[in-house]
Amino acid sequence: MSLQVFLNDRLVPQEQAMVSVFDHGLLYGDGVFEGIRVYSKKVFLLAEHVERLYESAHAIRLVIPMTPTRMAEAVEQTVAANNIVDGYVRLVITRGAGALGLDIRKTSHPQIIVIADTISLYPEKYYEEGLGIITASTIRNHPGALSPRIKSLNYLNNILAKIEGTDADCQEALMLNHKGDIAECTGDNIFLIKKGVLRTPSNDSGILEGITRNCVLKLAKEAGIPTEEVTLQRHDVYTADECFLTGTAAEVIPVVSVDGRAIGTGAPGPITRDLRARFQKFARGG
Ligand code: PMP
Repeated sequence: MSLQVFLNDRLVPQEQAMVSVFDHGLLYGDGVFEGIRVYSKKVFLLAEHVERLYESAHAIRLVIPMTPTRMAEAVEQTVAANNIVDGYVRLVITRGAGALGLDIRKTSHPQIIVIADTISLYPEKYYEEGLGIITASTIRNHPGALSPRIKSLNYLNNILAKIEGTDADCQEALMLNHKGDIAECTGDNIFLIKKGVLRTPSNDSGILEGITRNCVLKLAKEAGIPTEEVTLQRHDVYTADECFLTGTAAEVIPVVSVDGRAIGTGAPGPITRDLRARFQKFARGG
């Protein structure tokens, strides 16, 4: 069945949803995006995603020709038009078509694209048994070159690390920052639990400030679990009692080994299980 895609100002059949080959989103990865979940027809944490989208755009000096309120409406409209009950929304803003060359003054009409579709999830066994991951040799972008806090269309940094993970038969790969500290995985944030304290790299560690990450931190605080946003090293990962990843697609997923070393008991731990259950309850309307 053909999807209805929101393009700039209206819904069009997916066959007619096209952008120019001169679009700088294609030519240079010049644009920003968001991935958002839909649970039981409700768009999850939409305001937070729209806010991060506009912050990313502002950081690359891209003026989105639409108000945040209208953007949120466009997302809702696209989800409803495609009868999405449980699914995924991809919101993309490109710089628009322009001359060959980097000068943004020679581009016009940023393109606004909203795609709502179903989502393929990690198989259930990974949630029950946990993931084994490796540390990639590719480091996360230096914040002075391209801030990881910008969710830009330029994902080659993450793709190169993801390839390393795939080559090692892993679903995810851990990325260090330019200082050698823990940053995040290619499409997920990382959390550790040590002696009952939940720890995750701080925003100055070279991470995307994940919306799932922030939600899990909040749920943990509400549950009385002490939390810390700090600098973490590989040693902290290897010696953690528990480890898990968070992301819009993955939600909360346990990690049981890193670089061939078992984390904790080598099985998903109790705090990870508890936070996963709390997150699922929150997301699915508990
Ligand atoms: N880090 C990176 C690099 C990501 O691309 C993502 C999103 N897939 C995340 C972390 C998790 O962010 P969120 O919880 O907002 O999906």
